[in-house]
Amino acid sequence: SAKAAGSNQWAFFKQQMTERAAVRLRTEASLHDAIRNNEFLLHFQPKVNIETGELMGCEALIRWQKDGRLISPMSFIPVAEETGIIIPIGRWVIEQSCRVLRRWQQRYNFSPPIAVNVASQQFADASLVPDIKQMALRYQIRPELLEVEITETSLMNDIELAISKLEQLKSAGFGIAVDDFGTGYSSLSYLRHLPITTMKIDRCFVTDLPQESAIASTILMLGRQLDLKIVAEGIENEQQLEWLKQNHCAIGQGFYFSQPLSLEEFEAKYIAPHNARILKLDGQLS
Ligand code: C2E
Ligand code: MG
Ligand code: MG
Ligand code: MG
Repeated sequence: SAKAAGSNQWAFFKQQMTERAAVRLRTEASLHDAIRNNEFLLHFQPKVNIETGELMGCEALIRWQKDGRLISPMSFIPVAEETGIIIPIGRWVIEQSCRVLRRWQQRYNFSPPIAVNVASQQFADASLVPDIKQMALRYQIRPELLEVEITETSLMNDIELAISKLEQLKSAGFGIAVDDFGTGYSSLSYLRHLPITTMKIDRCFVTDLPQESAIASTILMLGRQLDLKIVAEGIENEQQLEWLKQNHCAIGQGFYFSQPLSLEEFEAKYIAPHNARILKLDGQLS
């Protein structure tokens, strides 16, 4: 009967919800362990001057080393956000990035800026700004060497609060990038009030270059008007790069230059040979 079918569906739905909740609880518990057991690590992906090939900085991307496998942030950052564990994880990312900057300065007397991703909830948390300032001080990091990447959506949650936090970060000297630009629901009228330094064009608008270029063109134009640095994310081939070069996009990031690399690999390839800092566009040292 229809009633029986409905009740079966309900049972199925309930079972699915229960399974999902169980997966979430398990992940939550093991994320707590992961912090304690030091199971997180950062990979680094270069940001490259599209015109000259010069290394302009890098983005720190978290990975979770669990049972000998590397787990992608896409599968645990959402759970970390839902459960609040993102706060200590985010703090670890910032501290670890400061340690790396310090290490590069001490060992190589050279360090490009590191950009860290800040989750929505972490950005909303009152401890973010004091934490960053305190860590930069503790590790003696010039604030220009640390950049925060915040998604457009996080900024638009509470625009007034966002503006005041960004003001504090900017006046302290930290770089501020809007990540995944174009995928959220920015109020363009507010954009010019946000004290940001950089806009990252989301990969989905780079993927279809040069055939589909309307959005990328528009973002580049907007960035120029607002006097922002523009970074194109997810560059995978020569055609995309060529279009971005022709259209005066200053900085690029993507597999075409390099995958995100372990600290050791990134250091060997980009930091240690810093006296030969000019890179060819294929990412090889010239
Ligand atoms: P995102 O901040 O937009 O980072 C860019 C993502 O695109 C990275 O994925 C990177 O590996 C990938 N990518 C870079 N170049 C290319 C390319 O040419 N082609 C393709 N297909 N992909 C490319 P990843 O490392 O898996 O990170 C995914 C997302 O997870 C990040 O997106 C960011 O939102 C989040 N995430 C990563 N690390 C952290 C972190 O430490 N804290 C927080 N809150 N979120 C993080
Ligand atoms: Mg990012
Ligand atoms: Mg992005
Ligand atoms: Mg993204």
